[in-house]
Amino acid sequence: MAIRIKAPVADAVDRLTYPPQRVLMAPGPSNIHPRVLQALTSPLLGHKDPVFLSIMDETAALLRQVFQTENRATFALPATGGSAMEAALINLLQPGDTVVIGRSGFFADRMVGIARRLRDVHVVAVDSAWGSPLDYDVLAHAVREHRPRVLAVVHGETSTGVEQPLRDLALLCREIDAYLVVDAVASLGGTSLPVDDLGLDVCYSGSQKCLSAPPGLAPMTLSDRALLAIEQRSVPVGSWYLDLILHARFWDTERIYHHTAPVLNIFALREALQLVLEEGLEARLARHRLHARALRAGLEAIGLRLFADPAHRLTPVTTVFAPPDVSAAEVRELLLCDFNIEIAGGLGEYVDRMWRIGIMGHSAQRANVMLLLSALEVALRRQGFTPHASGPAAADTVYSQ
Ligand SMILES: *Cc1c(COP(=O)(O)O)cnc(C)c1O
Repeated sequence: MAIRIKAPVADAVDRLTYPPQRVLMAPGPSNIHPRVLQALTSPLLGHKDPVFLSIMDETAALLRQVFQTENRATFALPATGGSAMEAALINLLQPGDTVVIGRSGFFADRMVGIARRLRDVHVVAVDSAWGSPLDYDVLAHAVREHRPRVLAVVHGETSTGVEQPLRDLALLCREIDAYLVVDAVASLGGTSLPVDDLGLDVCYSGSQKCLSAPPGLAPMTLSDRALLAIEQRSVPVGSWYLDLILHARFWDTERIYHHTAPVLNIFALREALQLVLEEGLEARLARHRLHARALRAGLEAIGLRLFADPAHRLTPVTTVFAPPDVSAAEVRELLLCDFNIEIAGGLGEYVDRMWRIGIMGHSAQRANVMLLLSALEVALRRQGFTPHASGPAAADTVYSQ
C-alpha cells in the first residue's frame, strides 16, 4: 500500500534536503554506505574500456566470495531481482518440462506466475502456510511424484520473514537429477548462504537489499551443471535479453557484447561487495543477527506479536503484527513523514495488519534500531495504543549483554 504524503515535510532541515534523507528499514532498498555513493560519482567509462573490463572481473571475483562459490558463471544481471527470477526459470525450463515451486509467500507466488506464462510447462505449486517454511515431507512427496526438471524455492521470503532451510532440498534434487533454483534476493549478505557447500544450482539476489548497493543489478551464480543444461537446450530460451548464456559470455573472457553495461552501478556494487569483505562475511552476519535480536526484543517489550515461526525467522526481515485497533498504514506514514524512517507494510492478506522491517546491510545499525523503536512508540501512542514496556530499553539490554 503506497503512502500518500498529506502535508509537506515538517521541519526546515527537511525542506532544505530534497529528496529527503531517509533511514531505510523496509526490506529493501537499504541505505548505502558513503563509499558506495562515492563510487556512483566516479568518472564514466565506456563499457569496453579495459579498465572497466578489469573492474567487471573484480566484481565477479567478489561476488564469488560473497556467494561462497567457485562457479565460473557468476555475474550481475543488469536489472532487478525479479529479472533474475524470471531468467532462472525461463532458461532452465523447456516445453514439456515440469517445475515444482515451494509457494511459501508472495515472492514464491511470483515464481509460479512466471512459470505459468511458459508454454507447455507443467507447474506444480506446493504451498506452506504463510509464516512457516515448506514442509519437507510434503515437498519431497511432490518432487518424487512429479520428477520435475526444476525445484524452485525462496530462501528468505520477504513477505513472511521466514528462512527456508535448503540443504535437504539440494539432496532431494540430486536424487532425481533436478536443478535447484534459489531466490536469495533478501538473504545474500544478511544470512548464511554457502552456495557450493549447500549444492545450489542457480542462486540469484538483488543489489539493493543486504548488499546495500543501489537497486538495478541482480547478482547471480550458476553451477557448471546448470550452465550445461542451458547450453544443451533443444529450443532457444524464449527471451533474448535474459538468455543467461549470453550474459555468461559477456562476463567471461570472451566478452561478447550483449548490452551496454550499467558502468556506474557496477562500480557501486563492487564497492559494496568490497565493504562486505572488509567487514568479513561472518562478522557481517553476526551484526545482522545482533540488530535483529535487539529489534525483536524491543518490539516484544512494546507488546507487539511477531509473525514468523520462531524456529525459522529470517534475520534480515522482521514481520510483526499491528495491534488490533491500530492502522498499520497510518503508523508507517507517521514514521516516514515525521521521522524519515521507512518500513514496509504487509503483503497479501496482511496489507494493513503487519509491518515488515528490514535489518539489511548498511541500515543494520544500533542507532537505527533505537530510533525506529522510539518513533514507533510515539506513533503507537498517537493511535491510542500504550506500549507495555519500553522498546528501546529492551533493545538496549540486548546490546549491553
Ligand atoms: C525484493 C525481492 C524480490 C524482487 O526484487 P526486485 O529487485 O524488486 O525485482 C524477489 N524476491 C525476494 C525474496 C525479494 O525480497
